[in-house]
Amino acid sequence: MTKIKNFKMFIDGEWVDSESGKTIETLNPENNEVWATVPEASTKDVDKAVKAAQKAFENSWANLHPRDRAKYLRVLADQLRINAEHLGTIETKDTGKIFKETKTQASYIAEYYDYFAGLADKVEGTVVPIDKPDMQVTTTRIPIGVVAAIIPWNSQMLLTAVKLAPALAMGNTVVIKASELAPVTLLEFAKLIEKSGIPRGVVNIITGLGEPCGKALTTHNLVERIAFTGGPETAKHIIKNSAENLSQVSLELGGKSPVVVFNDAEQENALNGITAGIFGASGQSCIAGSRLYIQSEIYNEFLDKLVAKAEKIKLGAPMDKDTQMGPLNSFKQLENIEKNIKATVEQGGIIRCGGKRSSISNKGYYFPATIIECENHNLPTAENELFGPVLSVMKFDTEEQAIKLMNDNKYGLSSGVYSSNLGRSMRVSKAVRAGIVFVNTYRLISPMAPFGGIKDSGYGKEAGIESIKEYTRIKTTWYNSSDKPMTDPFTMG
Ligand code: NAD
Repeated sequence: MTKIKNFKMFIDGEWVDSESGKTIETLNPENNEVWATVPEASTKDVDKAVKAAQKAFENSWANLHPRDRAKYLRVLADQLRINAEHLGTIETKDTGKIFKETKTQASYIAEYYDYFAGLADKVEGTVVPIDKPDMQVTTTRIPIGVVAAIIPWNSQMLLTAVKLAPALAMGNTVVIKASELAPVTLLEFAKLIEKSGIPRGVVNIITGLGEPCGKALTTHNLVERIAFTGGPETAKHIIKNSAENLSQVSLELGGKSPVVVFNDAEQENALNGITAGIFGASGQSCIAGSRLYIQSEIYNEFLDKLVAKAEKIKLGAPMDKDTQMGPLNSFKQLENIEKNIKATVEQGGIIRCGGKRSSISNKGYYFPATIIECENHNLPTAENELFGPVLSVMKFDTEEQAIKLMNDNKYGLSSGVYSSNLGRSMRVSKAVRAGIVFVNTYRLISPMAPFGGIKDSGYGKEAGIESIKEYTRIKTTWYNSSDKPMTDPFTMG
C-alpha cells in the first residue's frame, strides 16, 4: 500500500491548504493507486493568490530593472538543473511519462529561464517619426500585470516555463493553476521558486479543478492576461471567461499533426522520426504526428518496417531504465482511445499492431504502440486527437494530393515531411497549414524556436524572441518640445 503524501499550495510566499480544507486525490498511472493529495482551491483561494500577485506587481516586481529580474531567473535555472532528477521522479509519478524523458526535460527547461533572462534587458521601445513638428512621440513596452497561466497535465514544467519565464522577465506577476490530473510536479517546482529568492507573491502556484478554480482565476477582475494550454473545448470556456475581465488571451491547443513520407525519403531516418513523433511520451504530446501518409510505391515496404519497429517498443514501468513507453495518464484516456479504435475498425480500419489495452498490468493504464491502416482520413482515429500511441496510416500518389490531405483537418499545430528532394520539401513545408513543420526530423523543441499553432490549434506563440512581447503592452508617450503655450482650443482663427 502506497503511503499517501499531502502537498500544499504556494500563495504569497506561503505554503497553504485550501480555505475549505478540501483536497484532490491524485492517482499513479502505473497502478491506479492514490499516491498524493493536493488542496482543492476555492474561489477564495484564487482571490488570495491573485491579490498577492497584484500587490507584488505594484510593490516590487514591475519596478525592478530587467537585469535584476533576470538574475532571479538565472538562479531558478540553476535550481532546475540541480533538482532535475527529483522533479523528473515526481513528474513520472504524476503523469506516467518515462523517467528518462521527464528528467532530461526538467534539466533542459533551465535553458528557457536562461534564454528569457538574456532577453529581459533587450526589449526596446521606439521613437515614432511623428507628423507634428513640436512633438516627440515614443513607445515603450510595459508589463501587463497579473498573468493567469493554465497548465494541462502533460509536460507541465515545459508548458509553465514558456509562460512564466517571459512573463517574469517583462515584469508581470503570475498565478499558475496546475492540472488536477497531475498536480504535484508544479508544487515541487514552487519549492525552487522559493529557493531562488523571487519576492513573495510574484509567483503563486495553486491546485484545483477546472471549475470553480480555473474559472475563478480566468474571470478574476485583477487578471489581465491569460496564457492557456489545453484542449479546444476548455479553450472555448477560457475565451468566454476572458469576456468577464477583458484580458488578453493566448491559446496553445491540440493537434492531429500530419506526416508525409515520399518515395525518395531516407527510410531509416523517417522510421525513427515517425516513431519518436507518435510513440514518444506514449503519444501524449500535442505535436504527436498521428496521421501518416505514405507514397504508394513504398507504401507496403515502409509500413511493414514501421510495424516491425513499433512491435518492438518496450511498454513498462515508467521508472525502469529499459522502458520505452509508459502508461497513459488516465483511465478515461485509455477508454477514449479504445472507443475510437473500435469505431475505426467497424468502418474498415485494419489494425496492424497493438489496438488492445496491454495485459502487462491489470491496474495501470497501459496501451501498446498501435498502427491502423485507414482507407481515408475521415475515420475516427485518423480525424480526432486521441492523445495516445495510435498512428493512422494512409496512402497517397502525388505531391498535390499529399498537401491536400495534410491540410484537410481542423487542427494546424505541427506537421512533418520526409523527402531527400530539397525542392519538394520546400514546396510541401510552404503549403502545409500548420504552425510548425519538421523536415526530415520530428519532436524537437528549443527556447529559441517559436512554438504554437494555427486554425483550431490556437493562437499566440510561446518561446522565441517574439513571444516575450506577448507579455507586454505598448505605451505611447507624447512630449511637447515647444516653448510656446498650446493654442487655446476655443479661440477661433
Ligand atoms: P484540458 O483542456 O482538459 O485542461 C487544461 C487545464 O484547463 C487544466 O488545468 C484544467 O483544470 C483547466 N480547466 C478546465 N476547465 C476550465 C475552465 N472552465 N476554466 C479554466 N480552466 C479550466 O487539457 P488536458 O487534458 O489537461 O491536456 C490535454 C490537451 O492539452 C490536449 O488537447 C493537448 O493537445 C493539449 N496540449 C497542447 C499543447 C500545446 O502547446 N499546443 C501542449 C500540451 C497539451
